[in-house]
Amino acid sequence: MSALSRPTIHTPQEALLKYFGFRNFLDGQEEVMNAILSGRDGLVVMPTGGGKSLCYQLPALCLEGVTLVISPLIALMKDQVDALVARGIDATMINSTLTWEEQKERLSGIREGRWKLVYVAPERFRAESFLNALKGIHIALFAVDEAHCLSQWGHDFRPDYLRLGRALEKIGRPQCVALTATATPIVRKDIIEVLQLRDYFEQVSGFARPNLSLNITATENAQQKDERLKAVIAAHRTGIVYCATRKKVEAVSETLSSWGLKCVAYHGGMGDEERERAQNVFISKKADVAVATNAFGMGIDRSDVRFVIHYEIPGSVEAYYQEAGRAGRDGESAYCELLYNYADTRTQEFFIDGANPSVAVIRDIYQFLQNSADGDYEVRKTLEEIADGCELKNSMSVGSALTTLARAGYIERFDIPGKRMRGTRLLKPEVLTRDLQLDELAIEEKDRRDREKLKAMIDLSYSRVCRQQWILQYFGEDNAELCGNCDYCRSAESGEARAATAEEDLVVKKILSGVARMSRKTSAGWEARFGRGKIVQMLVGSKSQDIITNGLHELKTYGILKDKGTGYVSGVMRALMDAGLLRTDTGEYPVITLTAMGESVMFGKSPYRLIWPKAESAKMVDLKDAGFDPALYSALRDLREKFAKAEEVPSYCIFSNKTLEALARYRPKNSEEMLAVPGVGPVKAQRFGRAFLDALDRFR
Ligand code: ADP
Ligand code: ZN
Repeated sequence: MSALSRPTIHTPQEALLKYFGFRNFLDGQEEVMNAILSGRDGLVVMPTGGGKSLCYQLPALCLEGVTLVISPLIALMKDQVDALVARGIDATMINSTLTWEEQKERLSGIREGRWKLVYVAPERFRAESFLNALKGIHIALFAVDEAHCLSQWGHDFRPDYLRLGRALEKIGRPQCVALTATATPIVRKDIIEVLQLRDYFEQVSGFARPNLSLNITATENAQQKDERLKAVIAAHRTGIVYCATRKKVEAVSETLSSWGLKCVAYHGGMGDEERERAQNVFISKKADVAVATNAFGMGIDRSDVRFVIHYEIPGSVEAYYQEAGRAGRDGESAYCELLYNYADTRTQEFFIDGANPSVAVIRDIYQFLQNSADGDYEVRKTLEEIADGCELKNSMSVGSALTTLARAGYIERFDIPGKRMRGTRLLKPEVLTRDLQLDELAIEEKDRRDREKLKAMIDLSYSRVCRQQWILQYFGEDNAELCGNCDYCRSAESGEARAATAEEDLVVKKILSGVARMSRKTSAGWEARFGRGKIVQMLVGSKSQDIITNGLHELKTYGILKDKGTGYVSGVMRALMDAGLLRTDTGEYPVITLTAMGESVMFGKSPYRLIWPKAESAKMVDLKDAGFDPALYSALRDLREKFAKAEEVPSYCIFSNKTLEALARYRPKNSEEMLAVPGVGPVKAQRFGRAFLDALDRFR
């Protein structure tokens, strides 16, 4: 039966019920479908199983014309199409398993309106003949599934996907929607750029894991980490401890064994068999704790994981969330804790260095291969041997360099029978080192991106905000609510945090736009240029030399918080920092800019809560020196001695002579003025303030 003879479906809701038998949409589906039906390009990010396919399948049934679905999973294509056909949907596929005759037959079927959905393998767009055949066909929608495949930085890059942007142009730029489960900001940006989405909507949904309690604990040393480890295991029993290195996996599993706990260790340095055995022991519940590097997890599917501990900081928020997300797959509550220590970030930096050898290093390695190749242009040396030969400390960078050289077609790696190492073969031995063509920009860009990812992870560790909200924001989910379940949400501190009043909200937005104007917006996000001092000065309209020479007095935001006072603006900025709306970049001196969440708040797109600075600190108390009066000084000193005796402490512990003199000179009249006297803090003001104020009163 052809689509033409079918009664028309008008809404996705109708199609959902008619073809799929579901009454309700899953999270985010309806919004996406409405946006698609409004004719806009779009980027849809939902986790695996979130129901992405329906997001284009249902609109396809409502739209006039054919929907092309680009999917890299040719092996699954037939099943997908069969499943649709079984539901009575006119769907078919075009891929290289078909002869050109068959393909032409299907193309003319498209022209006749025989199909609503046609799955196309990305490699088809390589062929000019195929593109030409598509010309003139009314394509209602071009849906790119697994769209992260077009990002060179993704784990699943497919060069054919890069061609899709051009293909879209060639076939007359139909409406395009891209879908993926990868929420990394960088990958999202790549998708938008490669497909050149226009006036597009972007929707990220479904990443919240409300059953997870996310916790990040600052730890100073291994002993503190082990205490937390013990406590978490005692409370939650079944789980995974992630470590950054093989060595740490071994050390931690030894620690657990010394506590009499049965655990399995798992890391990339183990042989296949050994790893499989470890995995099986864990999956079959013969051990309840797995200690692993991030190599663990692909194959394991144990839904009753009750805790995930990160013994060390992972290299990115993506990795962190994916690993933490292995807890609580059964939907029951689960506990995640990262044991943060700044020194551990060096391990990650070391990995980044290893993963991103410079072009110079790659050339050195190539030269070394040239020098040591045998008559068959083969080099049988381990990565360590090559590293030694090139005087490199980080042998990881040899592996990365070989990967780059292999991708560029200069070498290939081959297995050496009976050995665990692999050999390297020069494919173009005639190419001299100096003639190597390497994509330097791409190599530098990848290094930069890796460092940015680590930085985001460090920012998350330091920020005092809802962990879940921060992460969702990072992935681009707007309007994420507080989770109520993370360490921050449960802390007393979060009780002190509250939403802004209308007036406060205005101050926050003014500060954020001021910061935006004093930052640089790059394709990768915000880049800081100025420190807090200058930003505050600009906002309150200071006429200092620094401000003028930098031209900051010409900004639209100059002086917009004049009436608020430096102290208050500075205090709110600190609170914004704590809440993760601003971040500090360290260069020569710390400079400040917006985070993604800060930008979102600036545009009024996200809710936020702050621990507000006391409004009092906004007002500068103006104290006048009334002159030194020895009688007053001596009276105050007597009072100090009384307290010192009563508390059995030396008198300078009450107030120093200098503070005492300041009290005598400034003669504060109330506690507010008292606090403005140099040397008097809130604690002392509370304990001794009343008595000193009374003494001053009596003197007057
Ligand atoms: P994804 O592509 O995001 O991984 P799928 O589109 O394959 O997810 O959908 C995952 C599962 O959810 C499928 O079994 C699908 O039938 C089901 N599903 C999708 N939408 C709905 C819905 N509105 N109601 C119920 N089940 C749905
Ligand atoms: Zn929270």
